[in-house]
Amino acid sequence: MRRSQAIFAAVAASIAFAGFVGCRAEVEARAAGWDRLPPEAGIRMLAYTSEFVKIVPRDSGTLGAAKASKWLAQEIRRMGLEPRADTWTENTPFGPKTFCNIYVDIPGDTPSVVLFGSHYDTKAGIGEGFQGANDGGSSTGVLLALAEHLAERKPRLRHTVRFAFFDGEECFGDTYRDNDGLHGSRRMAAQFVRDRVEMPLVAAIVLDMVGDRDLKLEIPRNVTPWLARIALEEGAARPEAADASLASAIIIDDHLPFILGRFSAIDLIDFEYGSGPGRHDYWHTMEDSIDKISPDSLYKSGALALAMLARIEAGAGPPPEQQQPRPAAARNGAR
Ligand SMILES: [Zn+2]
Repeated sequence: MRRSQAIFAAVAASIAFAGFVGCRAEVEARAAGWDRLPPEAGIRMLAYTSEFVKIVPRDSGTLGAAKASKWLAQEIRRMGLEPRADTWTENTPFGPKTFCNIYVDIPGDTPSVVLFGSHYDTKAGIGEGFQGANDGGSSTGVLLALAEHLAERKPRLRHTVRFAFFDGEECFGDTYRDNDGLHGSRRMAAQFVRDRVEMPLVAAIVLDMVGDRDLKLEIPRNVTPWLARIALEEGAARPEAADASLASAIIIDDHLPFILGRFSAIDLIDFEYGSGPGRHDYWHTMEDSIDKISPDSLYKSGALALAMLARIEAGAGPPPEQQQPRPAAARNGAR
């Protein structure tokens, strides 16, 4: 190489390096403060929810449910992410039904997963045009906006973040049974049990009924204590996040199959949904419509979920005595 060439090469290299540094700085600037949602996120959440609940009915196995799953995949694809669909048929007390979970993984530095879950199906038999705006719609809108937020900000995370849209949360009959209700979450929890080594699930954070104007987010008794603790702490510490409180009762929801699978899991839910205190007259009735949903409530619920992810990223986890030892083979076998 001649001297002039060497100078040219050095200049070119320094320009390329400056470009690289500039690019990295840009990425870091975009990712900074990722754990706080921009003010307009509530409006995005409401827009997602409103569009989504126009797809009716969404009872599992119906044409509407199939449309809903396609719509979710399409929205996720629009964010530049790669949605996945898991379709299966299962026996229920009302005959075989087909279900479809939609999910998307945002890869982190490790295969350990923090999961956000929402069911997108609605209770069958409520009435024609039943929207399920809060019960099924609200948490779905929140999760879509959270996925979009992370896809745009691109923070470098330790954990892989999964957004899971469960089918078949609602039971077809009057009560939950082994083969009726929680179909989608049971399916995914079983997959995480099977892949416990390759894809360890750190936490499942389930949201349900999070859009009520009069939001009183609760944490049922049957959740994992360390997740309840960080939800309470983050809600109290962050003005933008919903202030959750401990409920007096347990609740059957999509977190339960993860608890039974011995994973850490929590449900964030406002089960008091009606025209007055103690009344549940909007729940599983035609009154569960989009006019009952507030962008502020959606925002606060989403902000709490995101703050919990930030705490887990910062090292929050189960106390040492509850940590499950990973088999030796796992360390080599993990990707
Ligand atoms: Zn329901």
